[in-house]
Amino acid sequence: MDQKNIRNFSIIAHIDHGKSTLADRILELTDTVEKREMKDQILDSMDLERERGITIKLNAVQLIYHAKDGQDYVFHLIDTPGHVDFSYEVSRSLAACDGAVLVVDAAQGVQAQTLANVYLALENDLEILPVLNKVDLPSAQPDVVKEEIENLIGLDCSDAVEISAKSGLHVDQVLEQIVHKLPAPKGNNDAPLQALVFDSLYDSYRGVIAFISVKNGTIKPKDKIRFMATGAEYEVIDVGVRTPKEVIKSELVTGEVGWVSAAIKNIEDVRVGDTITKVEQPCEVALHGYREMNPMVYCGLYPVDNARYDDLKEALSKLKLNDASLRFEPETSQALGFGFRCGFLGLLHMDVVEERLEREYNLDLIATSPSVIYHVYKTDGTMLEIDNPAALPPTQNIDHIEEPYVRAEIMVPKDYVGAMMDLCQKKRGEYIDLQVIDDLRMNMVYELPLSEIIYDFFDKMKSYTKGYASLDYHFSGYKTSALVKMDILLNGQIIDALSTIVFKDFAYNRGNAMTIKLKDIIPKQQFEIPVQAAIGGKIIARTNIKALRKNVLAKCYGGDISRKKKLLEKQKEGKKRMKKVGSVEIPQEAFMAVLSMD
Ligand code: GDP
Ligand code: MG
Repeated sequence: MDQKNIRNFSIIAHIDHGKSTLADRILELTDTVEKREMKDQILDSMDLERERGITIKLNAVQLIYHAKDGQDYVFHLIDTPGHVDFSYEVSRSLAACDGAVLVVDAAQGVQAQTLANVYLALENDLEILPVLNKVDLPSAQPDVVKEEIENLIGLDCSDAVEISAKSGLHVDQVLEQIVHKLPAPKGNNDAPLQALVFDSLYDSYRGVIAFISVKNGTIKPKDKIRFMATGAEYEVIDVGVRTPKEVIKSELVTGEVGWVSAAIKNIEDVRVGDTITKVEQPCEVALHGYREMNPMVYCGLYPVDNARYDDLKEALSKLKLNDASLRFEPETSQALGFGFRCGFLGLLHMDVVEERLEREYNLDLIATSPSVIYHVYKTDGTMLEIDNPAALPPTQNIDHIEEPYVRAEIMVPKDYVGAMMDLCQKKRGEYIDLQVIDDLRMNMVYELPLSEIIYDFFDKMKSYTKGYASLDYHFSGYKTSALVKMDILLNGQIIDALSTIVFKDFAYNRGNAMTIKLKDIIPKQQFEIPVQAAIGGKIIARTNIKALRKNVLAKCYGGDISRKKKLLEKQKEGKKRMKKVGSVEIPQEAFMAVLSMD
C-alpha cells in the first residue's frame, strides 16, 4: 500500500450530532462490516455505550475505500466521544490523525463542544473537513449553519457536503472529499521506528495491547522494541489492525494505525502518550505525547466485601490502561474500611468508571460523594490540598479555604438568556461577558465554582433551556469562598464517608434536604435511627428513621414459595451495594444523595 493512499482521520462533533451514525454508514459503504453483522453505532462496542447511547472510548478501524479515481485508499477512522468529560479521548485520537471530519447537525448548528473539538483539532494541526448532517430533518437549515461555521470557526463551507448519516444520503461524497481534501501521512517509511501509543487495554491472555499510530518506520513480529518514556523493552509477538474485528498483519508501515502485542505483563511499562521505537535502531527523539489531564472530581471507591480490596486494586490498574485519565491511591475510611481515592475528569467519567469496574471486573462497590480539590490555608501558614471532606482540619486551625472555579461558556438561544442567568446566579456564578453569536443566539461567559457545576448544573441547564443550551468549561483558578464541613451523624455517630464541604449560606438548606433524603434511602431497622446534620459539632438538622414493624416474610405466609423466593432475592439484590456501618446498613444511594439536593 502506497503511503500517499492512506488517510487517517477522526470524526469530531458536539454530542448527538451524528458521529457514530456517520461511522456506521462509512463502514457499510466500504463493505467493512457485513450486512448481517451491522447494527446501529457499531463502534460503540461496550455494553455501557450501547445502553446509554453515548460514545465513551475512542475506537480506531481500518477500511479500504475504492475511490472514483479507480484507486484503493486505506482509511483509518477514529470515532470519538463528544461529552466534555471525555475530551481527553478526543485529544489522543486527534494526535493519531492527519485530518478530522467535523460533523455539525444542520438543525442545531454550532454548539459549545463543536468549538471545543475544533480547537483541539487545530492544536494538532489537522486539516478539517466540515459536513452538515441531519438534512433530512424538517428543521434543518444547512445554509444558515454553513454561514455560522464560516463566521464562528472560519472554515470554508462552499463545498461542504449536506448529508443524512441516518439514510446515507450523500455520504459517498464525504468519502471522496476525504480522499481529495485530507492529506496523506507525512512520515518516512525508511526512518527509524517512531510510533505513538494512543490507547491500550489489558487482555488476560496476551497481556497489554498497545494501540499505535506509526509516524515513521515499520514494526513487525520479532522486532525488539523500546517504550521510550518507561525504557521497557519487549519482543513483538503480533501486530495488526481492527476492521473492527481484530486482523493480524505481517507488519505495520508508516501511516498505519493498529495494535501491537508483546506479551507485556507489567502494566506500568505502557503509558498512553509514549513513543515506541526499536532497540537496535532507535529514533532520536520521542514524539511529543499529550498534556497530562488533571482530575477535577474525586471520590472514594470501596469494595462492599472488604476481602476484595486487592481485586479492586488490580482492576483499577488494568482499567487505567484503557483510561489514561483515571487516578487512584489507597485511602481508609472509619465507616467503609480500606479503599481508594480516585480522580476523574467529571461526574459522567466517575459514573462510567464505577460501572466498568462492576461489570468488567465483577466487583460490588460503594462510591462516596464526589468532591473537588480544596486549598485549605491553615492558621500556621501552611496550605493543604484536600480532596476528601473527611480530611479537613478542625475549624480553629483553618484561616481560609479556596475552591476551584471554571470559566464556562454557554451557547444559548436569546429567549433563554434570562433563565440561564438566573441559574448561574443561583450557582454562585460571576458574570463575565455576554456575546452575540447571531440573530438568534448568545454566548454567556460566567465564572462558576466547579463544585456547583459538577453536581447538577448540566441537567438544570437542560431543563431551564428545554435542551437548547450547550456548555463548555475550563478550569480558571482558585478563589476564596465561605465554606464549611457538614457532617452527617447516624445513630449519633459521624459517618466520615458522608461528610461534605458546602457553601456556608447553603448549609442549612442542604443539611435539611440531606437528612430528609437519607431518611428515605436508608432502610428501616429494628430500632429507631436519628439522622443529623452538623457543622463544627452543632446540629443544624435532624430527623428519625422509624423502627421496622414487620419482617418482610410475614406478609406471605400463604406458602407461596416462589413469591417468598422473589422477595428474598429482591432483598439480597438490594443488599449487594450496601455497607454495614456500626449497626446501620447504608445503601449506595445515600452517598450520592448530595448530588440531587435542591
Ligand atoms: P454522536 O453522539 O455524535 O455519536 O451521535 P450518534 O451517531 O449517536 O447520533 C445521535 C442521534 O442522532 C441518534 O439517535 C441518531 O439516530 C440520530 N441521527 C444521526 N444522524 C442522523 C441524521 O442524518 N438524521 C436524523 N434524523 N437523525 C440522525
Ligand atoms: Mg458517538
